[in-house]
Amino acid sequence: MKENGIKKIPGQTWIEINGKIHTFMVDDKSHENTIEIRSELNRIYDEMKEYGYIPNTTFVTHNMNEEEKENHLCSHSEKLAIGLGLIKTPPGTPLLITKNLRVCPDCHNVTKLISKVSNREITVRDTNRFHHFKNGECSCKDYW
Ligand code: ZN
Ligand code: ZN
Repeated sequence: MKENGIKKIPGQTWIEINGKIHTFMVDDKSHENTIEIRSELNRIYDEMKEYGYIPNTTFVTHNMNEEEKENHLCSHSEKLAIGLGLIKTPPGTPLLITKNLRVCPDCHNVTKLISKVSNREITVRDTNRFHHFKNGECSCKDYW
């Protein structure tokens, strides 16, 4: 046992596109398509708000204002991975995403809505199970 033991596992998400694996960390700005990913996510957030999406910011513990929290939520690794999938694959292509932690409630909610507004099937494999998102619903029925 190490003395200063408790180390938080950094959240990481992978997406495979055309045989290439892309890895994202939270608030990752290192990807070459970062700017396009952000603008795609912003575009889709605007669409989602028309469907009544309200960002779930209650679990963001940092001392931030609402806008900052929202930006922070947008930058979760699975959202970045989905954003890349959306810009890099033709419309209607299913997306497969792998995460090394449990999906957070906001990402789960957002992924449902993205599956609806973008008309895509999105599969997220997290540490517990598979989530199949389709037409605004998830196969786990929100129990996970
Ligand atoms: Zn998240
Ligand atoms: Zn689910």
